Amino acid sequence: MSELHKFIFEGLPVRGMLVRLTDSWQDVLARRAGSNDAFAPPVRALLGEMAAAGVLMQSNLRFDGALVLQMFGDGPVKLAVAEVQADLAFRVTAKVIGEVSDGARLEAMLNVHGQGRCAITLDPKDKRPGQQPYQGIVALHGDRREPLQQLAEVLEHYMLQSEQLDTRLILAADDTLAAGLLIQRLPVQGAGNLEGAVSARNEDLIGLDEAYNRIALLAGTLTREELLTLDAPTILRRLFWEEPLRHFGPQRGEAGPRFECSCSRARVGNMLMGLGRPEVDGIIEEQGRVEIGCDFCGRKYHFDPVDVGGLFTPEGNQPPGSAATH
Ligand SMILES: [Zn+2]
Repeated sequence: MSELHKFIFEGLPVRGMLVRLTDSWQDVLARRAGSNDAFAPPVRALLGEMAAAGVLMQSNLRFDGALVLQMFGDGPVKLAVAEVQADLAFRVTAKVIGEVSDGARLEAMLNVHGQGRCAITLDPKDKRPGQQPYQGIVALHGDRREPLQQLAEVLEHYMLQSEQLDTRLILAADDTLAAGLLIQRLPVQGAGNLEGAVSARNEDLIGLDEAYNRIALLAGTLTREELLTLDAPTILRRLFWEEPLRHFGPQRGEAGPRFECSCSRARVGNMLMGLGRPEVDGIIEEQGRVEIGCDFCGRKYHFDPVDVGGLFTPEGNQPPGSAATH
């Protein structure tokens, strides 16, 4: 079962999380498998890493709304999206035009001309009127303009920029598992697990600061292979057996990360109303009905001429077409 593990290092300004998406990730891939819009293996791996990263970032921020991680590409991958709700329900999709060769990394998929971008949007659940979602954007290159090949590097960059927090992130995904490890430096002041540990002495503070570097280095020794094959307690024991690690019970099931799509017939109806009646009538004339497939879960929604008539004629006997001006 998919699970999220949280842990702290007692007395040290460092915390971490480890996510393993198993059944839920396989479910996402199964919805696409065999169809002609099945994703190439490098795109599947990217989406898996995005899902794992999205879950880690969402539970790290504890944001009451949707965290949307988007990659805008100038290569064959035009767009890749992972969306994670406050309750850790996630969904992913991508728009790919053209060939993605085996073994393609970020540059070949998304950043062929150096125009690729990664955007993180925090969309609050209860928006005040006129409130815009918060969005941060980073390019897919490092400080020396070198193209980045790993999603984890892009996101480490983003977190340093946006939250001013040092973060170490290791991500990996194949067709059975999408997994990630996050280690983050906490501000020394006010960190919950530092109770009593911080005295005013300078050398103590320097020592605490070095603790993050040491733990981040240990985390960096975790290989992709290990992340994809070992269970969470084994990974944490191997990496941090000398550290004062306190591991909290995993979050699973309804309390843990899981696949869930928020699409609905009503939302698709709203989208059609946004297109306007002439457009929708045109589709009906050509095809007899409107079929809209959800990009995230693959579910198909059908609207026949009667459904379409109903959409554009709300209660109150408005003349046909008046609702199309919305
Ligand atoms: Zn859906």
